[in-house]
Amino acid sequence: MREKIAASDFQARGCDIDAEEIFISDGSKCDTGNILDIFGHDNAIAITDPVYPVYLDTNVMAGNTGPGNDAGKYEGIRYLPITADNNFTAEIPSEKVDLIYLCFPNNPTGATATKSHLKAWVDYANANGSIVLFDAAYEAFITDADLPHSIYEIDGAKSCAIEFRSFSKNAGFTGTRCALTVVPKALTGKAADGSDVELWKLWNRRHCTKFNGVSYIVQRGQKRSILKQDRHKSKH
Ligand SMILES: *Cc1c(COP(=O)(O)O)cnc(C)c1O
Repeated sequence: MREKIAASDFQARGCDIDAEEIFISDGSKCDTGNILDIFGHDNAIAITDPVYPVYLDTNVMAGNTGPGNDAGKYEGIRYLPITADNNFTAEIPSEKVDLIYLCFPNNPTGATATKSHLKAWVDYANANGSIVLFDAAYEAFITDADLPHSIYEIDGAKSCAIEFRSFSKNAGFTGTRCALTVVPKALTGKAADGSDVELWKLWNRRHCTKFNGVSYIVQRGQKRSILKQDRHKSKH
């Protein structure tokens, strides 16, 4: 299944992603929260406003923020407003942040990101040593051929981005649970002493320690659905 996904969803779009860099999971809701297991508590975190609530709430639960105020805003979170004024694409912060959550096509606004918008984020992240947590749960609904489906379509993304994908929205796996997370082997973060740490190794350890995989029957069903979508794509 991972080989099929690497070929159809990534390599076919020019993304140099290998089957080993794909981790099958029980949901991207789960993984966008679980991913915090491999990061420390002192990171500067940016989220958009409004946002898919999981990114914020899991940081609050992990103790990564200060207290919340009456408006529901938490200390220590850098909120990036997305409004009609900025065409529902967050402005890149002028200061350095360590973790940035991006979701395109966006929940809740529906906005999509162009390659040049994502390129600006990738360049910012590589320049600042930041990690982009890219949620592509709705990528299957992109019909415009110029829009990127994966952040790895952007040069430089393999050294700064983790991508989350879900089969819940495009293939009805919301109840049976099947999703995937891509952690490139080239991706590193900084340890407290400034040394580089391979995030693939940390996530592999986390995944193997706290998760035992998606059931075989669900993976078989998912593989069939990929094959069916491939046949559909080649017909049209
Ligand atoms: C639905 C949704 C998910 C969660 O999908 P699961 O794989 O079912 O956990 C993740 N991110 C966004 C933005 C969503 O809307």
